[in-house]
Amino acid sequence: MSELSDRVERVVSGISEAARSADRDPSELTLIAVTKFHPASLVRELQALGLRDFGENRHQEAREKAVELADLDLRWHFVGQLQSKKARQAREYASVVHSVDRPELVDRLASPGHPLDVFLQVNLTDDPARGGVRPEELLALAEHTAGAEGLNLLGVMAVAPLDEEPRAAFARLKAASDEVRTVVPAATSISAGMSHDYREAIAEGATHLRIGTAITGNRPPRD
Ligand SMILES: *Cc1c(COP(=O)(O)O)cnc(C)c1O
Repeated sequence: MSELSDRVERVVSGISEAARSADRDPSELTLIAVTKFHPASLVRELQALGLRDFGENRHQEAREKAVELADLDLRWHFVGQLQSKKARQAREYASVVHSVDRPELVDRLASPGHPLDVFLQVNLTDDPARGGVRPEELLALAEHTAGAEGLNLLGVMAVAPLDEEPRAAFARLKAASDEVRTVVPAATSISAGMSHDYREAIAEGATHLRIGTAITGNRPPRD
């Protein structure tokens, strides 16, 4: 437990420092612990250390953990590629879906009743196989999402490309965010920053940080 709490503390203070040097208030940042591949027991330990927001990237695994940990008051963030046919099921446990990247998925997630918070994932690479909408299709997707029932558009999300300086990539995401805000003014959030680049993301306006290994340690191999 103490190694784990050391890592959490290090990340929390790293975030505060990065926020201060960017002249931002750390309280406007949400730390999401990405617990993919790790057992529910680790999520329980992290909850005991004060974390409440958890990220997963596979539907099956996310659902199992959400069921197992239903006694805790957790917020589940779905951050992986989501098949349209799994959208309805993901809605049952997810508080936030970060990876909305196509109109079909918007339509499958749309539903009357309790609104679901969503981010539009932007593909910052030239590789169409990567998740995310192409930047030139982002505005149309934002308008489509704003018009969908039961969806609350929080903002944009991205993963920095491996072959680019992260700060430059996050600056492009910030520009994409500004563009979305011209059509959906309330979509002010930016989901960006992982274990190795959250400082750069904070410098470029990130509000939701998705941090895995810096908190959990190395991921066990997939089963
Ligand atoms: C795994 C994952 C993260 C966390 O990555 P780390 O490098 O372990 O911090 C963040 N975002 C997404 C979309 C992920 O799949």
